[in-house]
This record gives sequence, structure tokens and C-alpha cells, in this order.
Amino acid sequence: MPELVDSLANLTALRDRDALDVALVGTIRDLLQPETAAIYRCVGEMGDDRWLTCAHLTADQALPSSDSEWAHPDTLPKLADYPMRQQALESQNAIRSGGAPHITVFPLATRQEAPRILELGTRDALPEDAHKLVSGILRLYRNFHGLLDYGERDSLTELLNRKTFDSAFMKATLELCERSGGHDAGRRAGETTGSYWLAVIDIDHFKRVNDTFGHLIGDEVLLLLARLMRETFRQNDQLYRFGGEEFVVLMRCANEAAAALSLERFRTSTEHHVFPQVGHITVSTGFSALHAGDTPSGAFERADKAVYHAKSHGRNRVCSYHALVARGVIVESVAATGDVELF
Ligand code: GH3
Ligand code: MG
Ligand code: MG
Repeated sequence: MPELVDSLANLTALRDRDALDVALVGTIRDLLQPETAAIYRCVGEMGDDRWLTCAHLTADQALPSSDSEWAHPDTLPKLADYPMRQQALESQNAIRSGGAPHITVFPLATRQEAPRILELGTRDALPEDAHKLVSGILRLYRNFHGLLDYGERDSLTELLNRKTFDSAFMKATLELCERSGGHDAGRRAGETTGSYWLAVIDIDHFKRVNDTFGHLIGDEVLLLLARLMRETFRQNDQLYRFGGEEFVVLMRCANEAAAALSLERFRTSTEHHVFPQVGHITVSTGFSALHAGDTPSGAFERADKAVYHAKSHGRNRVCSYHALVARGVIVESVAATGDVELF
């Protein structure tokens, strides 16, 4: 019992979801000694969903293994290849298999857009009291996730808020540093460092919406636009509301053309969406590649420059910072990049 209380106290001392997953599988391993304990999350495009390993621990492992947050979906196992996990998510009930090892899958869906499960592999069927213990710990885990959501999400749209952006950004650039072997290697967007992109999306003439239809309808437009973002972007693209009518997307794409395509898809789905009472609205988007050693404010400033260009050239368009610099339309800011871009 004191061991359980200690484990739960350690678990709830954490403020980081990845660390929470690691601690949860560790706690369950220590309490029940299963052969494996793992947390998986659904990622990928609609219709091509995959399983990302958040934490996977075997009986003899000191620390769990995991996939990178930004692992390319093609490298991950397909959702359909694990029907028990799917069934657990759909039914929101624990599912058990017979045979050796016995597998028990607990649904962990803490948010609709990031469903996850806990999977235990045990030599014998999980006894009823162990099953109850895990279910109890998972209730705590879900509640705790709810609290983290409360601090990390914008209350109107439920997108991530600005507070969480810096740490997500640093995780992405850290991976770029590791890949490029240090701060000085490979700076050309589209090559080693070009696979992370930051986009700023700003609603066109939003003040008019408020002035014409009132603030409440304006709020509803923000809410519906956020929903459209969740439907249009991929599950592991990170979507933020930075305040007001300004949204940010942090995404991993193979190259500039793929990033532009994804943003263009959102631009057109916004343009064609009919918002109740308001009718049609449009968005202007600017985006930039991230590079090793980048800063959140530097990357944001580059994407924002491209938004400014979109606004002053007819709105309802997607502009690439790099393309604008290459065309000599905007001047490269050394302070904004921390380095001279190689184009
Ligand atoms: P532009 O195309 O140049 O971006 O024009 P705009 O009218 O969208 O931009 P501007 O920055 O002039 O106005 C933004 C407006 O967004 C001002 C404010 O009334 C509105 N706004 C900011 N936050 C909120 C919010 O939380 N709810 C609502 N309803 N309106 C908001
Ligand atoms: Mg604005
Ligand atoms: Mg605007």
C-alpha cells in the first residue's frame, strides 16, 4: 500500500505528458510485474491511422522505449493491424485476449483527437483485483490529463495555447540538432533541416465579422474554424490558438511543397465552408522551415512576415517565407533566423 501511494504521488508530481506515460508504465510494471506494459497513441491521417508508441516497458528494461513524437506515420504499424486496441477504443471497455502472453488493453482516450490505450502482456490472465487496480490508476491518469489539458488548452477552441508552444518547438529543434549533428550542419530548408514547419494562420477581415454579427458569432467562427483545422490537418500536426484570430501550426512535412499543400488544403476548406449566419470567410497563411538552433520567436517572425505579405497581396493565400526571400520580395532578417539561409 505505501508503495502504491508513493507511485501515485510520483505520477501526479509530473507536468509533462511524455513523462507521465513513462511513469505510468513504470508504476504498473512495479506493482503487477507484467511481461510488457505499453501506451500507444493513434496518429496519422484519417483513413491511414497508425500506432505511435508513447512508452513501452518490458520486465527487464530499466527505462521504457518510445517513438519520436514526429515519427513518420509510414514507419508506424497500422491501426487495423491491432484489432483489440481498436475494439478497446471503440467500446471504451478493457479487452482481454486468451493465450500466452495474455493481452489486456485498457482504453485511455483522454481527448477525442489523441486516443490512446494501455496494453499489458502477462503470462497468466490478469486477476480481477489487478484489473481493478489498473482501472483505478487509469481513472486518476485521465483526471490528471484533464487538468493538464485545462492549463495547456485555449478554453474557447480547445486548441493548444501559446504557453505550450515553446516546449513543443524546442523538442522539434532538438531533434533537428541531433539529426544534423550539431548547430552548424545542414541549414538548407527542404534538406535535413527542412522537415519541420511553422505556419501562422490569420483570419481575413475578422473585425468585420465582429462588427457585423457581434462578438458571440465571432467566437463561434473561431470555434468552428478550430474544428475545421482539426479535421483538415493530420493528427500529429500541432495546432495552436495564439490568441485573437491568429492560429499556429507546427508540422512535420517532407519538403516545402508538402507543407504548402497541407496549408493550401486548409485555405480552400476554409474558403468553401459555410459558417452559420456569417457565410464565407478566408484566411491568410505564412510559413517557414525550422532549423537546428532556431528560436520560437525567430521562426514565428519569419512566418509572420509571410502572413504580412499575403495580407498585402489580396489575402486568402498561402505564402512561403523562403520563396519570398528567394524572389527578393522580402529581405532576409539575420536576427530572425539566427543565421543566413542558404538558398
Ligand atoms: P486582417 O485581414 O488584416 O487580419 O483584418 P482583421 O480585421 O482580421 O484584423 P485586425 O487585427 O484589425 O482585427 C482582429 C480582430 O479580431 C479584432 C478583434 O475584434 C477580433 N478578436 C480578437 N480576439 C477575439 C475573440 O476572442 N473573439 C472575437 N469574437 N473576436 C476577437
Ligand atoms: Mg490578426
Ligand atoms: Mg485577421
